[in-house]
Amino acid sequence: MMPGQGRWALAVHGGAKLIAPDAREGNRRGCLAALAAGRTVLTRGGSAIDAVEAAVRILEADPTFNAGKGSALTGEGEIEMCAAIMSGVDLAVGAVGVIKAVRHPISVARLLMPEDEILVAGPGARRFAAEKGAELCDPEELVVEKQRRELAEHDTVGAVALDTAGNLAAATSTGGLPGAKPGRMADSALPGCGYYADNAIGALALSGKGEAIARLAISSEVIRLMPEIGPEAALERPLSKLPHLGGDGGGIAIRKDGAIGWWHNSPHFAVATASAAQPAGRVWLNKDEA
Ligand code: ASP
Repeated sequence: MMPGQGRWALAVHGGAKLIAPDAREGNRRGCLAALAAGRTVLTRGGSAIDAVEAAVRILEADPTFNAGKGSALTGEGEIEMCAAIMSGVDLAVGAVGVIKAVRHPISVARLLMPEDEILVAGPGARRFAAEKGAELCDPEELVVEKQRRELAEHDTVGAVALDTAGNLAAATSTGGLPGAKPGRMADSALPGCGYYADNAIGALALSGKGEAIARLAISSEVIRLMPEIGPEAALERPLSKLPHLGGDGGGIAIRKDGAIGWWHNSPHFAVATASAAQPAGRVWLNKDEA
């Protein structure tokens, strides 16, 4: 058997954040459902890019998470979402920023991948979604009561995968930071900041204070470090600098050989992983459970 030799690996996350006791079960369940969706694609010989999109769509549809339905509200009380998807095969990127009233920002990002542009934002992004036949919705359909009540929840969802052909992909989706300025762009839309994928090295997706992640260009740093020190240590080193810029966060990564790593310095980080060696998968809300 050639390139991937039947080896596949998948990691999904539901955000670096504080998870209240009554939200823990929902976070576990949501991550496991996303894991199952991605695993179905990979075990059938599907592509990493299809697997990460499938996993993130599940998380976007689940109001437990700050992405798609259940996204945080801006300072003006609206939902503006950012999402991105990247293929390690050819470094193709599709990303949307500050997009309103679409059900699955990740699938709009996916539709942009074949185009020359890597990122479209604002009203242009929604027009692009409409032109391509993506699922539009009423903005109110994405709002859940808890986001109206507590302007506190922030997080991002993400997925990384290695398929049996040896290809890697990364995906992210977020409602951003609650109370943010309208028009704010999250790191989750920016390659080298909130995510990256390169078949020659690995793939990763991050969650955390986007401004700090972007200023430190954390994903590009993780990619630089991963071949030498492995996915987990490569996440830990730059993420450890976040508190100096007033933030915290977490990340998931897969090296090209299928090694999976995850790390966080937020109170919790909802993560689930599976691989050809451990197809049933596992879910955690914190490194202390590992
Ligand atoms: N990275 C996201 C943002 O800055 C938020 C998060 O992951 O907590 O919008």
